[in-house]
Amino acid sequence: MPCASPDVTPDARLADVLRRVISAMESAPGDGCPVCAQERLEWHTDLERYPLQGPVCTDCGIVVPVSVLTPAALSASRRYALADRYAAV
Ligand SMILES: [Zn+2]
Repeated sequence: MPCASPDVTPDARLADVLRRVISAMESAPGDGCPVCAQERLEWHTDLERYPLQGPVCTDCGIVVPVSVLTPAALSASRRYALADRYAAV
């Protein structure tokens, strides 16, 4: 499971995280993080390994596979990323 940062890791054990992500992939797309269930995801384009961009959970820090998210959740994550970028200018 790729993480955006080595400093941010889910609280759950890796096996639990993987199981939740896999079960999310096997069911219908959702609106939030498959691991901790919160809905705030930020689209990052500067990840240091594959995938180089994707939605990152702001709570547990995992890179959420695009296939487990609804189109609405994906566009929301992109909005968060843009909002942060312009807020800093
Ligand atoms: Zn999470």
